[in-house]
Amino acid sequence: MTSMPIDLHPYTSFKTHANATALFELHCRDQLPELSRQRQPLIVLGSGSNVLFADDYDGTVVVNRLMGREVLEEDTDTVRVKLSAGENWHNIVCEMSAKGYYGLENLALIPGTVGAAPVQNIGAYGVEIADFIDSVEVFDLQHQQIQTLERSACEFGYRDSIFKRPENRQRYVIIAVTLRLSRQFTPILTYRGLSGDDGETLTPKALLERVVAVRQSKLPDPEKLPNAGSFFKNPVIARTQLKTLQERYPDMPFFDIDADSVKVPAAWLLETAGFKGAQRDSGAGVYEKHALILINRGGAHGRDIYALAQEMMAGVKAQFGIEITPEVRLVGGDGLSCE
Ligand SMILES: Cc1cc2nc3c(=O)[nH]c(=O)nc-3n(C[C@H](O)[C@H](O)[C@H](O)COP(=O)(O)OP(=O)(O)OC[C@H]3O[C@@H](n4cnc5c(N)ncnc54)[C@H](O)[C@@H]3O)c2cc1C
Repeated sequence: MTSMPIDLHPYTSFKTHANATALFELHCRDQLPELSRQRQPLIVLGSGSNVLFADDYDGTVVVNRLMGREVLEEDTDTVRVKLSAGENWHNIVCEMSAKGYYGLENLALIPGTVGAAPVQNIGAYGVEIADFIDSVEVFDLQHQQIQTLERSACEFGYRDSIFKRPENRQRYVIIAVTLRLSRQFTPILTYRGLSGDDGETLTPKALLERVVAVRQSKLPDPEKLPNAGSFFKNPVIARTQLKTLQERYPDMPFFDIDADSVKVPAAWLLETAGFKGAQRDSGAGVYEKHALILINRGGAHGRDIYALAQEMMAGVKAQFGIEITPEVRLVGGDGLSCE
């Protein structure tokens, strides 16, 4: 364990400066019982690509570095593979696909670790990791034991799972994820940018490369322009509210959810509210090609990014009467979520 003060700048993709009181690198399962003896509260990080420290953190940042993978079961149709939580997600996607274990191709190039993937049920281009999760292995800090949570116990939803709930944040450390993948390649091409006229002949490698190319053309590389991907979730609103809004905004896009509700792209709301490309003197800003992506142009403190995020939430609320909420985990000075 390293103590006081730890600059978190290298540990998050926003590359903002904030200090933590202590840092604990988790390399092997034998270290798990030591976690409850560290300065509390704890926050577990993988690559820090979906988290914003809005202030210093008076607690321990646990960096997950558990590595390894194991095929548990394989037949002609499916394979069950157990992946340690510290593995790099994109490398795993490439490796699985190259081995003939299919399904993850649309999730290529999502930054981060295997262990963080179930937390917000990562998704892209019509696919979510929940589609493949068999079980999640956790260390339960409350009961000081390893447990296996079956898929249904994880309560996956849109960018959501039990691991995101405030009451579980100090409870579960994800140590491994078991996926059930297919031995047959069935490309999901519902996203317009991925479909072509080669559906029949498209190889897994070609699909993976297409996903990477689409992402590289749309999203800023956090190494060059620090960011955490989509900062906000797409809000769900009542159809009655949509109808009222459409009188003022006839082009307002939406996706059907059920008979009573629709999902509205947060990017459209933010762009219409004038936030695309916004820049603040602090160094906090919004990517010029995508209104959903907050960026650190250099020198921004976590609280500057947070202030801009609050301004954006208030702007959308004032203009549309819609509340947008962060997808990114916000961490305040007291170690609790700012949400
Ligand atoms: C450029 C860019 C593009 C992105 N695109 C997408 C996208 O298309 N789809 C998508 O869903 N996300 C996307 N993201 C968000 C991010 O990549 C994912 O949420 C990813 O899973 C985060 O992984 P991480 O290891 O960096 O997690 P971190 O940021 O380190 O952690 C995220 C959250 O998970 C918790 N956590 C992490 N590891 C563990 C663990 N082992 N046990 C318990 N809790 C843990 C943390 O406490 C935190 O609350 C994008 C981010 C960036 C920067």
